[in-house]
Amino acid sequence: MSKSPNLCPCGSNQKYTICCGKYHKGKLHAPTAETLMRSRYSAYVLDLPQYIFRTWDEDTRPTLQSLREGKTENFISLEILSSKNGDINERDGTVEFIAKFKVGDEIFEHHENSTFKRVKNHWVYVEAIKTVLKT
Ligand SMILES: [Zn+2]
Repeated sequence: MSKSPNLCPCGSNQKYTICCGKYHKGKLHAPTAETLMRSRYSAYVLDLPQYIFRTWDEDTRPTLQSLREGKTENFISLEILSSKNGDINERDGTVEFIAKFKVGDEIFEHHENSTFKRVKNHWVYVEAIKTVLKT
């Protein structure tokens, strides 16, 4: 790996501490659906099930236990294709992204369109409205 360990896994090219790290610490909430999406991806990379749990809508989320026990994919990169709404003053939004990960020697692309909503002034992930997995 040639990537600097200080760089945020979400691919923003910013330092982790000033990017998703500040949301993972819990002092700040991600201001938009897209930043929340990035921080959740980073949480998967860094194996932070607690963060994934608390940024997931309580009506659709799995148990914290199952997130802790779930196997962590070997993520390679995140690409945000588009985000609709999901801005600071909105209530709902969607983010379309491709997350690449590796299983053995094979690289997979997880292409998802996700919905987010704002609950009590912070964004949570609701569900995937479209998921495509390809190699
Ligand atoms: Zn980040």
